[in-house]
Amino acid sequence: MSEVSVTDAAAAAAAPPDALVVLNSVNKHFGALHVLQDIDLTIARGEVVVVIGPSGSGKSTLCRTINRLETTDSGSITIDGRPLPQEGKELARLRADVGMVFQSFNLFAHKTVLENVTLGQVKVRRTDRKAAEKKARDLLDRVGVGAQAEKYPAQLSGGQQQRVAIARALAMEPKLMLFDEPTSALDPEMINEVLEVMQQLARDGMTMVVVTHEMGFARSAANRVVFMADGRIVEEARPDQFFSNPRSDRAKDFLSKIL
Ligand code: ADP
Ligand code: MG
Repeated sequence: MSEVSVTDAAAAAAAPPDALVVLNSVNKHFGALHVLQDIDLTIARGEVVVVIGPSGSGKSTLCRTINRLETTDSGSITIDGRPLPQEGKELARLRADVGMVFQSFNLFAHKTVLENVTLGQVKVRRTDRKAAEKKARDLLDRVGVGAQAEKYPAQLSGGQQQRVAIARALAMEPKLMLFDEPTSALDPEMINEVLEVMQQLARDGMTMVVVTHEMGFARSAANRVVFMADGRIVEEARPDQFFSNPRSDRAKDFLSKIL
């Protein structure tokens, strides 16, 4: 066996071998508002992390810093051992590696569903159009909207649009998927069809960060719950532990309001 140097050991301790995303003392301000405060978070490959917390606690900002829709003031973020790129082609590739699904569906309104799921593959991944369309159709089938491929987003229900948005992100073969309240804008009867797609993705081993108020999803799909308040990670626990026995007063107070 080879000797492990102190420096290697320190680096390995800082980022376990199965770590996909590592945030180290990340800070972010919006003017005087300290929106992310010394965030340390390591996400393992295949892990599903559900982020919950009161409105304004910094959950969306956290997601947005991970795919560099927001810059940070200090600290480091690495994905697959590499620091986030700052600009250019590298940044476009990062955005493809980190799929993001927002509360609002953000599809291209003037492109068909098929084109929505094909475009990024051709432009960013340089996939041949025919292969990209084949893959788009497979993914649309997988999320249950294969029959809608030739329609425009506005002709689809919210739940269908959100499933297209998931297919579009998956088409880039991301290493990580970020979901920021993906069901919050949906009519109640459409929430489950989106959560089921996410559940399946989790079962298939996708690494996921999910901001959601859907506690049923958190209980059944999350490996870990991260509770944020006022820009800090206040508590982290397995879902069963978090829901049955929250440790912090902030988490107790939050759960008493939503459960
Ligand atoms: P959450 O998603 O947990 O509701 P956000 O990350 O959206 O929280 O916001 C955290 C805080 O940062 C809030 O007080 C919000 O008003 C503020 N904020 C978010 N985005 C901006 C921005 N672009 N400029 C200034 N303040 C912002
Ligand atoms: Mg938010």
